[in-house]
Order: sequence, then C-alpha cells, then structure tokens
Amino acid sequence: MKKFDYVIIGGGCAGLSLAYELDIYNKLDDKTLAIIEPRDNYKRDKTWSFWKVNQHNFDDCIKKEWNEFSIKTNSESKIIKCDQFPYVSIDSGLFYDKINTRLKKNKNINFFKNIKDLDTTNSFIFNSLPSLKKEVSSNLWQHFYGIEIQTKEACFNEETVNLMDFNCEQRGSVHFFYVLPFSKNKAMIETTWLSKKNDSLKDYDSQIKIYLNNIGIKDYKINYIEEGAIPLFYPINKKENNKINIGTAGGMTRLSTGYTFLNIQEHSKYIRKNIENIQKMQLYNIGKKYRFLDEIFLRVLSKYPEKMPNIFSKIFNGSYSTAIKFLSNKSNIFEDFSIILKMPKWIFIKSIFN
Ligand SMILES: Cc1cc2nc3c(=O)[nH]c(=O)nc-3n(C[C@H](O)[C@H](O)[C@H](O)COP(=O)(O)OP(=O)(O)OC[C@H]3O[C@@H](n4cnc5c(N)ncnc54)[C@H](O)[C@@H]3O)c2cc1C
Repeated sequence: MKKFDYVIIGGGCAGLSLAYELDIYNKLDDKTLAIIEPRDNYKRDKTWSFWKVNQHNFDDCIKKEWNEFSIKTNSESKIIKCDQFPYVSIDSGLFYDKINTRLKKNKNINFFKNIKDLDTTNSFIFNSLPSLKKEVSSNLWQHFYGIEIQTKEACFNEETVNLMDFNCEQRGSVHFFYVLPFSKNKAMIETTWLSKKNDSLKDYDSQIKIYLNNIGIKDYKINYIEEGAIPLFYPINKKENNKINIGTAGGMTRLSTGYTFLNIQEHSKYIRKNIENIQKMQLYNIGKKYRFLDEIFLRVLSKYPEKMPNIFSKIFNGSYSTAIKFLSNKSNIFEDFSIILKMPKWIFIKSIFN
C-alpha cells in the first residue's frame, strides 16, 4: 500500500484550498500528498460569498463583486455602501477547475476515493469531515435553498446585493431572502432559515415562488439550484498528534453568520507557514471573543427570533466598516464595543446568564 507524508480527507473547499496553498508555496516539492475525495467529478455546487476583508488566492474565480448591499425589515430598508470591503461571490466551479488543473501537474499529489486504499500509519492527516456527535435537537442550523434564475426583462438592480430581506413568513424562526444580482437579468435568490432542524420549514420551492411573485417576477428560467445547511454549533475539534481538522470540521464557521470561506483561506495560510513544524503547531481558531459573543447572540436568536430582523439591521447603523470587520472577525476591542452597544442590552445580559 502506498504511503504519503500528508493526507487530506475531503477534497472540498478546505481540502483543496490547503493543497493549493501548499503547492504554490513549493511545500510539496519533496513531500507527498494524498487527497481522499469520493466524488467522481467536480461541478459547480456552491456560491461562496463574503466581504473581501483580506487577500486570498481566488480573485480569478470571482463571479461578481458589489460595493453596496441592502437590509430590509418590515419597518425599514437601508442600503449600505461597502466600497472599502466589497462583497464578492466565488463560483465553486471555477474554484475547483483552477485548483485541480494546478494539482494535476504535481506528481507528488494523488487523489484516492477511499482512505482504505493507502497506508496512513506515518502520515499527517488534515481532516475536513465534521464529527457532529455533539449535536442535540436544540442546535441551530443555517439552512437554505437557492435558485439562479434568468429573466427576459431587466428585473434586478445589479449594483446592490440584497443581503437580508425579512419581508417574508417567519413561522417562529428567523427567515430572510438573500439575492445576489449577477446582472439585470440574472440573480441567485435564496430562502434562508436560522432554526433548529424542522422539516416543516423546507417547502423552499413554494417560499421562493411567493417571494418572486411579491417582487413582481413571474417569467424566468432556472439555471442552477443550490441547497445547503451550515451547522451553527462547533464540531468536536480536539488536538491530536498526527491530525488536525480543517474547514467546517475545524471550526472555521462564524456561528452568527455562517461565513466560512475566508476563514478557511486564513487557516490554510497558517498551516502552510507552520508546515515544517506541524506536530507542535497551536490549533488555529477564529478568535475566542467571537466564539463567546456568537454563542450569546445565538441564545438571543433562539429565544427571541422575532427581534432578530431589527437586531441584524441595527448592527449596520453607523460605520459600515466596523460592522463588516466585526462580522468578518477583524474588529478591534473598540469596534467590538461599538457593536455590543447597539444591541438590546437587557435580553443580551439575560442570555449571558442563561
Ligand atoms: C451550499 C452552501 C453554500 C455556502 N455558501 C457560503 C458562503 O456564501 N460564504 C461562506 O463563507 N461560506 C459558505 N458556506 C459554508 C462553507 O464555506 C462551505 O460549507 C465550505 O464548502 C466548507 O468547506 P469544507 O471543506 O469544510 O467542506 P466541503 O466543501 O463540503 O468539503 C468536504 C468534502 O469532503 C468530501 N467527502 C464527503 N464524504 C467523504 C468521505 N467519507 N471521505 C472523504 N471525503 C468525503 C465531500 O465530497 C467534499 O468534497 C456554504 C455552505 C454550503 C453547504
């Protein structure tokens, strides 16, 4: 059986980002890497969007970039400029193609479908398969379903992402629509829920039809469908001698937002910088203060879902860059406080002690 210095379990966003980072920095010139990935071929399956608060390797996979976004509740609608940190969408199809084309050229990198096909006794393992044993019925998920549609008429304002439109049924949870307008005639429309597991919220098709009807769009063709669920709780992630977790499994998701992509890129850089000393490397995390604040935020969300449209909207009162930095784990202590001060104090204080 073949042996490898490094093994990446899961050739998805985190696994491929790490392999790419190691390859472009020549860390695999004299080391071997096996990537375990069951899928037969890669096709577009995700649209990764985020505020671009730092550099990453995939600018050429950006489908579109926007300098403003909107938040709509039933009492207000606001447009927020974000030219300092544009909101960008990465097409996973372009991302997979770019990385796989590069990795195929390195003879030290091999793909396998099953870890049983290799001898991993002396390998260092990067695992991206989450261990969610901790899950209980009270755990929250961000679950969503989106369609990319093409319309004959110009229906969309292509300048503005609709980040959260809460003008829809809430059903005792937190529900909003998310619209990424790629052009005047093409947009991704996503129905998004923050809730416990609940199959009765999954009539996604009819939710989208009602929303499109409400915004006056009746005639359209569906180009692409995307569905997913992001756990809003941390997976089991303990340090082991010859193994670390990456991606969602490695706790790279920001619980209050679900944003993960840029954290995965930061984690890949961190691993690449420490690869020669990987066994002694400290576990990387996205910041203990964000973990703490997000846990409280989610307690409030669970207990007072009806308050969340206003709370999300309030985060963006005042400086947009402070809010974006906070949500992208790049804020300093003063910026954290300015966000905390905007929150309804009593319910947050009660939730700390719950
Ligand atoms: C539909 C969707 C949209 C998202 N959009 C955003 C976004 O807009 N912005 C953002 O920041 N985050 C987003 N996220 C969250 C996060 O960025 C993604 O989930 C990201 O793909 C996580 O990367 P990962 O490598 O941890 O998991 P994945 O990308 O899912 O990779 C896991 C890989 O493991 C493989 N695998 C499965 N079983 C096995 C097995 N037994 N052995 C080996 N390999 C296996 C899978 O085929 C897959 O390739 C989104 C998530 C989803 C699901």
